[in-house]
Amino acid sequence: MIRRLFRRPPAEIDRRSWQDVRERVPWVAALDDSRSERLRALAARFLHEKTITPLGGLELDQVARTMLAALSCLPLMEFGAEGLHGWSQLLVYPDAFRVDRSHVDAAGVMHEGEDELAGEAWEYGPLVLSWADILADLDNPRDGCCVAVHEMVHKLDALDGLLDGTPPLPRAWQREWARDFQQAYDAFAARVDRGLHTALDPYAAEAPEEFFAVCSEYHFSDPALLEREQPVVATHLRKLYGPSPFAAG
Ligand SMILES: [Zn+2]
Repeated sequence: MIRRLFRRPPAEIDRRSWQDVRERVPWVAALDDSRSERLRALAARFLHEKTITPLGGLELDQVARTMLAALSCLPLMEFGAEGLHGWSQLLVYPDAFRVDRSHVDAAGVMHEGEDELAGEAWEYGPLVLSWADILADLDNPRDGCCVAVHEMVHKLDALDGLLDGTPPLPRAWQREWARDFQQAYDAFAARVDRGLHTALDPYAAEAPEEFFAVCSEYHFSDPALLEREQPVVATHLRKLYGPSPFAAG
């Protein structure tokens, strides 16, 4: 028997399943038809290329898996499927999980410290998410949080081999981006250092890559606040991601 080595093309997500996702995921529900179709194709590719592994007794049905794929692909609607390169596993814990610092450092994981995490992204390893935090995001989609977007942004950031708050972009744009983000990050981190109140989550002051990931969460979940607090960053993110599903909403 001849073993066929070519890959099957990704199966489409059927209309009924996609409708289920639209009903449960407010960001997808808010997309116009053409962007919803683009996301549906990306999510199909995600399901084809990635292995989704629920841990700790968690069970995920097909709708839940499709929801995870759709959420993870939100930042790729303009960037495209190249944003999925470089890794193959999505691990999903039932709840926030504990990481041990020494292990984290040696493995090169992006989040540091012994901490309860809602998600993490290893540079070439798995994307890790907490299902409870995904559900909390879905319940409060306009609160500035979207853990799936946050972790996917780290994957996007790391695509050029450097986790530094700058994704791979055309050279001229990348220069502008690096300059504008550095300026915005330095000013934001200085406010947090002085103990001043910030409208954006002060976690963004941890590192330039966290600033990029946290601002991206606001792009999707509270674009008006991002525009008010970080107008220059908001403009770059609109160019990278397209308009927020909640723009002018
Ligand atoms: Zn992070």
